[in-house]
Amino acid sequence: MELACLDLEGVLIPEVWINFAEKTGIEELKRTTRDEPDYDVLMKYRLDILNKHGYGIDDIQAVIATLEPMEGALEFLNWLRERFQVVILSDTFYEFGMPFMKQLGYPTLLCHKLEVDENGKVVNYKLRQANPKRQAVIGFHSMYYRTIATGDSYNDTTMLAEAHAGILFKAPDNVIAEFPQFPAVHSYEDLKKEFIKASERNLSL
Ligand SMILES: [Mg+2]
Repeated sequence: MELACLDLEGVLIPEVWINFAEKTGIEELKRTTRDEPDYDVLMKYRLDILNKHGYGIDDIQAVIATLEPMEGALEFLNWLRERFQVVILSDTFYEFGMPFMKQLGYPTLLCHKLEVDENGKVVNYKLRQANPKRQAVIGFHSMYYRTIATGDSYNDTTMLAEAHAGILFKAPDNVIAEFPQFPAVHSYEDLKKEFIKASERNLSL
């Protein structure tokens, strides 16, 4: 059996922190892993800013609920689910991802978790495990699944390398240049074709 492993942000949904920053006007939240490579430092910085502005989990989810999956994402996901078992491997948090999952028909999502106190204040976060995307693919391989993975950024490349086939989707030029071993596509139609190419079965569009 073949599993499709998908990144979430940048593949099916927009970047949550960037969009949250735009919706709320909090410019400091536009800082990403490209500005601060230490994820712990970045997350502590983000949580401090949320608390400083008085945003609790309910406010965050209300803003996120106004965001939508990328155009064509649902159609692509439905197409994929007819042909593969699909697992979404993401570095987002369930509290951020679930409003999108509702719009995407609740596919399987493996990601991190926020710690929220009884007043709805985000006090901490819990990473699922270190290098979670790659570890999930290693786990699927131990179950004799063949995996085809797609993602858009640096935090996907170990997953793409571990999978039987890896595909870059809407990746920035620097990522494409640094990882020429992965085919790079920019539309869902081309992504479908790459999945068909990577599959060992006789699939069609
Ligand atoms: Mg991404």
